[in-house]
Amino acid sequence: MNKLIHTSLVESQQHVEILQRDPSSPLFSIKTFEELPLKKELLQGVYMMGFNRPSKIQEQALPLMLAYPPQNLIAQSQSGTGKTAAFVLAMLSRASASEKYPQCLCLAPTYELALQIGQVVRAIGKFCTDIKVNYAVRGNRVLKGTVLEEQIIIGTPGTTLDWCFKQRILDLTKISLFVLDEADIMIDTQGLSCQSIRIHRALPKSCQVLLFSATYKEPVRAFAERIIPDPIVIKLREEELTLSNIRQYFMVCQSSDEQYRALCNLYGSFTIGQVMIFCQTRRLADWLSAKMSRDGHQVAILTAELTVVQRASVIQRFREGKEKVLIATNVCARGIDVQQVTTVVNFGLPMDQDGEPDFETYLHRIGRAGRFGHRGIAFSVVQRETVRLVHKIEEYFQTTIKQLDPYDMDELE
Ligand code: ADP
Repeated sequence: MNKLIHTSLVESQQHVEILQRDPSSPLFSIKTFEELPLKKELLQGVYMMGFNRPSKIQEQALPLMLAYPPQNLIAQSQSGTGKTAAFVLAMLSRASASEKYPQCLCLAPTYELALQIGQVVRAIGKFCTDIKVNYAVRGNRVLKGTVLEEQIIIGTPGTTLDWCFKQRILDLTKISLFVLDEADIMIDTQGLSCQSIRIHRALPKSCQVLLFSATYKEPVRAFAERIIPDPIVIKLREEELTLSNIRQYFMVCQSSDEQYRALCNLYGSFTIGQVMIFCQTRRLADWLSAKMSRDGHQVAILTAELTVVQRASVIQRFREGKEKVLIATNVCARGIDVQQVTTVVNFGLPMDQDGEPDFETYLHRIGRAGRFGHRGIAFSVVQRETVRLVHKIEEYFQTTIKQLDPYDMDELE
């Protein structure tokens, strides 16, 4: 989803970490696109995109991705840090316009993402007029017996498998660059990682493999190892969320109605630009959203049953300021990147199944209010029986969460 909504580069303060097993392979980084072995049409494309200099991950990944002989690579960095642009450059660089058959294959977990990658290929490849793209995605029917002439194929694993083994229109034997995007999502989505592995098995041994992921936890590592046994891994640590520049408060209420009144008081007592409100369940989010709308607030709601595209559009509208309040459930707490939001409300605290505080989710909900050096403010409106969680959170993060009277916000000023 983040991919669908990022329209600019996320700057990272973190250092890039490189792990490699083979110390003899050359590693170097670049500070300008001109240092790369890119054809001039591609450089023009890069300029057209308005990219002045490579992003942090691109500085390290691009020289490796474009090196000769080709190297297999795993790159992990959060969404918005320039991975797609990097592998699109690699594909456009590899594809030979004069050869009319598929040479680069890129797999993405969703239809929307596949199309979006295609748009980036078209944009960066604007001056590579003879390089064509086709999409192995549902709904894109290609007649049996067709011989694909496009140099770049972007698809979802299911349809790609179908094109390869059932319809036999996609010949994998001449693919020289295989890109697996959003590997972590592939693993989380049933079937996709197995399908990707099947596709990978049918590729030539010499095919270069590039794997991208926003996270690099154990399941991704294990999956990656199956595909790339001795990889070079480039990691850009996720920006550390911190609570240090966030003022945290909590209010204790007797019931959800009282929690609602406290929220309204809070909202009325000082000018909040935009606010994100997190609820533990969808039911609660629906209830709150209906109540706030009835009271005349412009509210957007973000829950897991929206499709990725719908979610991206909700976030986009909120970013543009069309709604002042965004109510979200936990599922959406991570990775939403709305930089102007400095106020977050927990309408109830995040808990795990045992009723203990979900510290990580708390950090993700609140931490984003204080990103990029902003001073954020976070309120937790809780019921009496969960006050103990507030104290556990304080202890865990070695932080202070001040109590406020839900009916008297004076202390805030
Ligand atoms: P990711 O694949 O890691 O989510 P993207 O490649 O989609 O990241 O990049 C995120 C945004 O930043 C896109 O809008 C992209 O056009 C832009 N971008 C990518 N690389 C650069 C760069 N070197 N300079 C400026 N903007 C960039």
